[in-house]
Amino acid sequence: MNHFEPSQGVMACESVPLPTIAEAVGTPVYVYSSATLERHYEVLRDALMAAGLGRPLIAFAVKANSNVAVIKTLARLGCGADVVSEGEIRRALAAGVPPERIVFSGVGKTAREIAFALKTGVAEINVESEPELEAVARIAAELKVRAAIAIRVNPDVEAGGHAKISTGKADSKFGVSFSEAARLYAAAAVNAHLDPVGVAYHIGSQIVDLGPMEAACRKMRGLVEQLRAEGLPVRRLDLGGGLGVPYFDQPDPPGVEPYAAMIARVMQGLDVEFAFEPGRMICANAGVLVARVIHVHRRPEGRNFLVLDAAMNDLIRPAMYDAFHDIRAVKPRPGEPVLYDVVGPVCESGDTFTRDRLLPPLEAGDLVAFMTAGAYGAAMASEYNTRPLVPEAMVKGGEWAVIRPRPSYEDMLAAERPASWL
Ligand code: PLP
Repeated sequence: MNHFEPSQGVMACESVPLPTIAEAVGTPVYVYSSATLERHYEVLRDALMAAGLGRPLIAFAVKANSNVAVIKTLARLGCGADVVSEGEIRRALAAGVPPERIVFSGVGKTAREIAFALKTGVAEINVESEPELEAVARIAAELKVRAAIAIRVNPDVEAGGHAKISTGKADSKFGVSFSEAARLYAAAAVNAHLDPVGVAYHIGSQIVDLGPMEAACRKMRGLVEQLRAEGLPVRRLDLGGGLGVPYFDQPDPPGVEPYAAMIARVMQGLDVEFAFEPGRMICANAGVLVARVIHVHRRPEGRNFLVLDAAMNDLIRPAMYDAFHDIRAVKPRPGEPVLYDVVGPVCESGDTFTRDRLLPPLEAGDLVAFMTAGAYGAAMASEYNTRPLVPEAMVKGGEWAVIRPRPSYEDMLAAERPASWL
């Protein structure tokens, strides 16, 4: 079910017309549908449970959308959080995620962050290297606690929609090899301050082919069996995130049922507790970025530049990953579609959302919506070109609320201090 359908010719989020929010908050603005967030979490949970995978720990990858209201919407359903910084741990806690449902991932956790995670009592720290294992053991000893850890393995498979979001090849910075994993796990098992609870992998994002995931799952199963054969207990298997979503130009992702069925088939009979770290799958299609047309620059030579008030600092995916976003007129005008280059006002040629896109005719003042913008959208936004950080709004049925206001220019300038000699 799509919660961004037009109603009487105007695109709405659930029951709220997008122009209502755009007029009240201004543009650009991200708008999220609570119903979509909830449904995506529930379909994943139900599919995993129906496939016989027990009651898995589903830890929403906060990096995909870190707004506290988004995390809270999911936490109220029992969803946990996969975090990669102290800031994200703090966000998860502020949203009401219990520490025992927080997984701490990331290749470069600082000593301060490790100490904070241990004091918080997170479910597991996913350790990505030997120096990190040593740091966790040392800090746990200082704090006189036993750190629950999982070893993140790099299964050396190619996956992910773009080289910049592929993480599972041997030459990427993420995780350790299988032989290293076995050695580190055994070392952790004899350390009084470490409690190795399991192993983890995450091979990339926007994965639309289950083949590489299945290959990685088989290798992970082999590792669990090998560790157990060596007498090492393994309670949890963390299968990361990465499931793709439809972006309209790409092959359709497999869907949660085949995903769950594949895991159940590969893991049959393996007595472990499963954890998952989905990000994009939960929130991408729960959000749109609404922007206004500043003007249409019609070059006599033939190009039509649709200049929006949203830019690469608000939605960086097209500039960073050549990502495709469906762009729709919020209130389409009648008439023949027109070929546009859709651009923002930032002074970079990379500030081009798309070229040669056929859209309904648009004029200055019209609203457009970037679809599938709820993941890696607002979370990656910046104030580049001293553009105020893009605000976010959330809809629930016929109600809506601003969940992060646009800062004023005064707020932005007040955050800076002149040096004493100026
Ligand atoms: N887990 C880890 C360790 C990640 O690095 C990421 C994303 O990069 C995710 C989960 C979430 O991935 P996705 O949003 O593709 O589900």
